[in-house]
Amino acid sequence: MSEVKRILVLGGGFAGIECVRKLESYFRHDDNAQITLVSEDNFFLFTPMLPQVASGNVETRHIVIPIRTLLKRTKFYEAEVKSIDPYGKTVILSGTSEKRGVSLHYDYLVLALGSQTNFFGMDNLEKLAYTMKTLNDAVILRNRVIDMLEQADNETDPILKKSLLTFVIVGGGFAGIETAGELNDLLLDARKYYSNIQRNDIRVTVLEALPSILPGFNEKLAKFAQEKLGEHGIEVRVSTKLASFSGSEVVIEDVPSATKEAVNQHPLGAILTRTLIWTAGVTPADIIKKSVFKTNRGGIAINEFLQSVDFAEVFAIGDCCYLVDPNTNRPLPPTAQSAEAEAEVAAQNLYALVRGGQKRKFMYVPKGQLAIIGKRSAIASLFGFHLHGFIAWWLWKTIYLSKIPRLDKKVRIFIDWTIDMFFDRDIARLKTMKPKPLEEFKELDEVDDVW
Ligand SMILES: Cc1cc2nc3c(=O)[nH]c(=O)nc-3n(C[C@H](O)[C@H](O)[C@H](O)COP(=O)(O)OP(=O)(O)OC[C@H]3O[C@@H](n4cnc5c(N)ncnc54)[C@H](O)[C@@H]3O)c2cc1C
Repeated sequence: MSEVKRILVLGGGFAGIECVRKLESYFRHDDNAQITLVSEDNFFLFTPMLPQVASGNVETRHIVIPIRTLLKRTKFYEAEVKSIDPYGKTVILSGTSEKRGVSLHYDYLVLALGSQTNFFGMDNLEKLAYTMKTLNDAVILRNRVIDMLEQADNETDPILKKSLLTFVIVGGGFAGIETAGELNDLLLDARKYYSNIQRNDIRVTVLEALPSILPGFNEKLAKFAQEKLGEHGIEVRVSTKLASFSGSEVVIEDVPSATKEAVNQHPLGAILTRTLIWTAGVTPADIIKKSVFKTNRGGIAINEFLQSVDFAEVFAIGDCCYLVDPNTNRPLPPTAQSAEAEAEVAAQNLYALVRGGQKRKFMYVPKGQLAIIGKRSAIASLFGFHLHGFIAWWLWKTIYLSKIPRLDKKVRIFIDWTIDMFFDRDIARLKTMKPKPLEEFKELDEVDDVW
């Protein structure tokens, strides 16, 4: 009889869930493989639909799937990983007064802890900006937008009113563009209930430091998206970066092109706004940066088999790893698509390590890209075809609906979309849930549940 092997997966996002599901399938006849998953939330979050939660197009709970409903034989811990010791092959989970601190030992480890918003060291932004990364972010942003409409409707100072109705989104990637499109749709739909707010009182602006939005998309499609956003009333300013934000004013700067002299850089101007949404980048989770693993640009350095370069029994996948795509010679962008592709190969290679067999090299073959830009319009690049407009929007909906795990969530989202076609958006503002820091930590020495 073969020896029991403990496989521990950290992170219940795209990479972690896909990896666990593949492991369950590879080891389905092997009771000696113990699979454990740890994640700080007990749900899987379908991030591509976060902007639709922010705009009220989709109900909050419909884009999250309880992790336990996705697992067959994996043991699950809802807990925050506090530290990882690859020498002792131990992971420590934090405890609180209600939750026991736990220490887990492993033979094989998969790191799939994702990323967090990157503020590039601008502390002020971290305090003042809104973000679009977690479910809480989407709920908070929706409440904020409705709050701004409520305040602006009764505001008599025209300058203040204008600034309440100005929304600046920094970052012209997936998250920024989809958020801008959805936000604009919400504002325009909701406006009819606010008799003192006119169409031209509302301003949605996207700032992008690169010369074009949606990097990675075909150039023509990105241009189309930019033009369409303009037609929908969204101002897109490329080669423009944020210099500072005070809470009421955004100062913007021209990004000097390679041909221009950097010394000629001057502030371009200022935008009065109370709401800045920061989607300008992500960086691997802090726990990874604080770990002893070799990292590159904050992500775990891995080989072509997705193993950590210094610990062969440790795999790293998704947004928390750093991998250069040999086809482009550039780091793989942090996407759900690449996270799932890596998860599949990591599970296969882990099986090869545990039960013997040939490991597979990771080669990323993108399936395509899609982004919605508001007003039932989208852009899509699939199998060499480039599409835009309503057909791309319909494709986006069909493809992403098929990707949502579990039939009940698919049905709920489909109903949400159908309702949205015939009825107005709900403008009820729910009380904001600000994340609170954990008040007490019980470190491990009190309770020790080692296996
Ligand atoms: C608004 C938005 C739209 C997007 N749209 C697309 C899209 O259309 N297509 C696409 O391909 N990609 C898209 N992405 C990117 C995509 O969401 C990420 O690349 C993907 O989620 C990465 O998967 P992951 O498993 O590495 O990380 P995640 O999905 O973020 O999962 C990480 C997991 O680790 C857990 N975790 C983190 N730290 C700890 C800790 N200390 N202890 C315990 N658990 C922890 C988290 O709770 C989470 O469950 C979008 C992202 C955003 C924000």
